[in-house]
Amino acid sequence: MRKKLLIFTMTVLIATIVLISFLFYYYTKNLLINTVANELDYQANIAIDFINYSNFNDFDEIAKKIKESINKRVTIIKDDGVVVGDSDVESSKMENHKDRKEFLEAIYHGKGISFRKSSTVNQMLFYYAKRFNYNGQIYIMRLAMKFDLIKQIQKNIIYFLFVTIIMALILASSLAWVFLGKFIEPIRDLTKIATIISMGDYDKRIKIKTKDEIGQLGHSFNIMAARLQETILDLEDKKNKLISILKSMDDGVIALDNNEKIILINPAAKKMFDIKEDVTGKHFIEVIRNLELEELIKQNTEDEIEIKIPYPDIKYLKIKITKIINEKNNESVGTLMVIQDISKMKMLENMRSEFVANVSHELKTPLTSIKGFAETLKDVEDENVRKKFLDIINIEAERLTRLINDILILSELENKEYALNFEKLNVLEILEEIQYIMKPLAESKNIEISLETNCYDVYVYGDRDKFKQMLINLLDNAIKYTNEGGKVKIKLEKIKNQVIISIIDNGIGIPKEHLPRLFERFYRVDKARSRSLGGTGLGLAIVKHVVNLMQGKIDVESKVGEGTTFKITLPL
Ligand code: ADP
Repeated sequence: MRKKLLIFTMTVLIATIVLISFLFYYYTKNLLINTVANELDYQANIAIDFINYSNFNDFDEIAKKIKESINKRVTIIKDDGVVVGDSDVESSKMENHKDRKEFLEAIYHGKGISFRKSSTVNQMLFYYAKRFNYNGQIYIMRLAMKFDLIKQIQKNIIYFLFVTIIMALILASSLAWVFLGKFIEPIRDLTKIATIISMGDYDKRIKIKTKDEIGQLGHSFNIMAARLQETILDLEDKKNKLISILKSMDDGVIALDNNEKIILINPAAKKMFDIKEDVTGKHFIEVIRNLELEELIKQNTEDEIEIKIPYPDIKYLKIKITKIINEKNNESVGTLMVIQDISKMKMLENMRSEFVANVSHELKTPLTSIKGFAETLKDVEDENVRKKFLDIINIEAERLTRLINDILILSELENKEYALNFEKLNVLEILEEIQYIMKPLAESKNIEISLETNCYDVYVYGDRDKFKQMLINLLDNAIKYTNEGGKVKIKLEKIKNQVIISIIDNGIGIPKEHLPRLFERFYRVDKARSRSLGGTGLGLAIVKHVVNLMQGKIDVESKVGEGTTFKITLPL
């Protein structure tokens, strides 16, 4: 910019100097010519006086005489252009001068000037002609002087002008360079600060050194930068808040523009659709392939839909589609999808209906049996058969009671208020009590129950009755599914700040494929066997529930024919 300004300034300066120089040159030239003409006029008057007051024979002679006193070539011309006398050349040999410029001017205006090369003396000459009367006849007195002097003076003037112009230019350009530098400095500062601000450093401001327009510009720039900083910080704050809200949402959010391209997607939505990379800017169909959803979005209506995602795990999603409306002009600028993962809800729904079906089925079997035997009983006469039937009815009624008890325990465990009964429990004490309770049952099958531990004062936090129920269920299973003469071991360990209770048997074991579903309600490995042993299929479901409520975990290891180990880990 400094260079451009300098070039501009110098161009204006040179143009001005050249113009002034021309004017000056022509002015001095005219001044010189006028001065010379005045001088020649004065001499012409002397020459004319000389002619008027002298006696002479011919004009050539008088011309020579005049030249002697004024040292100029003298030519006397008649009004018809005939040269009658000349100081340097014989007049009779000279041609007619009626076309000469100075002659014509003098004839018409009294005096005339001209410069040209004289054909007679072959030199640049300055001619001055003046009209006069002599003996009633009009003559022209013409004086000529060499033009060299004028030329020399002109040359000097040109030389002087040239030197002056060069010096003026050097001086002006140096001064302009320095001055422009000073003038441009604040603009440079402004540009530098603007660049820094544009790169994101919004704290930078301009130091204002002057009060002129540039100072005012700097001041306005600083105000603008402050406003910009405020606005950007505000926008960033809003953006961060929005991002944080979207990030912390459990619901998925996807916003599409009117071309169905993704403009926003939150982490929850990415997780739901198993999207790993950045998909903003991509067309929605490229990212989420679901025909139902595609159609709904194309229909451009607000609606709600439930879709099933088969990959990577089966998932059920509920998607609410709404239009994004620009409040200013009430026009739609895109589509918003709010997605809820309803897989758990669906699973619970399924579990509930499955549970109801299972319960009804489990209740129906003993009830049918009881009803059948009770009806048949009416017609049975034989006392022994009647007794046998009554025994069966009794067994089935007991099964019903057990089943209803287990269902009641489960529903109690699902009650959230349940945790209010929690207390500090001495684990070893309870284990010894349970060992004692279960002993008769074990002995009936000739099974030995042992208790092994290396720690004595171990306490956990829980509901005493439910904790006991859980241990009874596990020991009952261990005894039930272990053949006569087998062994059941209760092991208590304390590792770091955890209590580990293991119920180990050397019974029939559980095939590997059943292990993952073992803790489901009514899940049995061998239905007939479980039933014949009085099982309800709810024992392990209750165990799992109690462990969960006590913030613990349960693992099972088993080998068919070798035995099973249930390992409960609880926090101290
Ligand atoms: P059940 O009332 O039928 O025993 P549970 O929920 O207590 O129901 O157990 C579920 C199933 O797990 C049982 O039917 C049985 O097949 C298997 N099971 C549980 N404990 C053992 C064990 N200690 N050894 C072998 N199988 C077991």
